[in-house]
Amino acid sequence: MAGLHSRRDALSLGLGLAATAALPAGSALARAPKLNSQAPYFYRFGFGEAEVSVVSDGPLPLGDPSESFLGVPKEEIRAMLTRNFLNPTAVTLEQNIPVVNFGDRLVLFDTGMGTSQAFGPTTGRLIKSLGEAGIRPGDIDAICCSHAHIDHVGGIVGADGKPLFPNAEVWLAQSDFDFWTDEAKLGSPLKAFVEHARKNLLPVRDRIKFFRDGQEFIPGVQAIAAPGHTVGHTIFMISSGGKQFCFMGDLTHHQILLLEKPLMEFAYDSDPKQSAQTRVKLLTMLAEKQVPVMSYHFPWPGFGHLAKAGDGFRYFAEPMQMVR
Ligand SMILES: [Zn+2]
Repeated sequence: MAGLHSRRDALSLGLGLAATAALPAGSALARAPKLNSQAPYFYRFGFGEAEVSVVSDGPLPLGDPSESFLGVPKEEIRAMLTRNFLNPTAVTLEQNIPVVNFGDRLVLFDTGMGTSQAFGPTTGRLIKSLGEAGIRPGDIDAICCSHAHIDHVGGIVGADGKPLFPNAEVWLAQSDFDFWTDEAKLGSPLKAFVEHARKNLLPVRDRIKFFRDGQEFIPGVQAIAAPGHTVGHTIFMISSGGKQFCFMGDLTHHQILLLEKPLMEFAYDSDPKQSAQTRVKLLTMLAEKQVPVMSYHFPWPGFGHLAKAGDGFRYFAEPMQMVR
């Protein structure tokens, strides 16, 4: 028996003996450390004669969806998320910010949370993302704000209260400016939103311009009123070289919940019923005309198409093209 054992041992070790003898059992030959890093947070594509760079202000953890998405039983919301392989108890929204270079001007759409930590530390990344994309804040000519909520106008000034985009005019609906900078609301439940809107909008007051519904206020950028989420909430039709896409702002916050059931209400809507009606009307128009869309809060980078599906809609993300 002793002889058999020793012969078996010799066979199993074989020719590999010299190479592996120094390594502990089960160990790889080249053991690389985990890198714990990610790609830069921008995505660039050509659109007509323009160049679009989507930059991110970072993910915004919204938390338990049943506290934000209202009018449908909690169990149903969880089932919708589970069916789509999404976390049923914690929703995270992206913050997709298109920067459109029309050739003669560089236009930024919405600005993220800025210094507000109301949704935690992962937001407030806009300036870093612009840097990764090679875009200098001083080169931005115009900022178009879909509305004056904390996560859309929050990045206009820095921690010191000074404007971060020294050469940019700021476009907004007057009704939203008036509503969200209203001092009388500082004593209301909207206090945090009003404080942050005032912090960001008042220092650039002399550079704010107001667009009207339907107005092409910048060549290639048309405002379309989309009231309900806020009183002056606006979406933008962006055109170049015969092509057009829509920056939808907060027309819909979620690619499943508010598309499959567009009449669902959202906790942060100023007028949830009006918001739902506006959502259905404009999503129907965009789907029927097959206008490509970019959504501020959809999964990164948030560019794709909409189609009608049953009583709601379905979003088809455009594949990213990493070679230009
Ligand atoms: Zn938002």
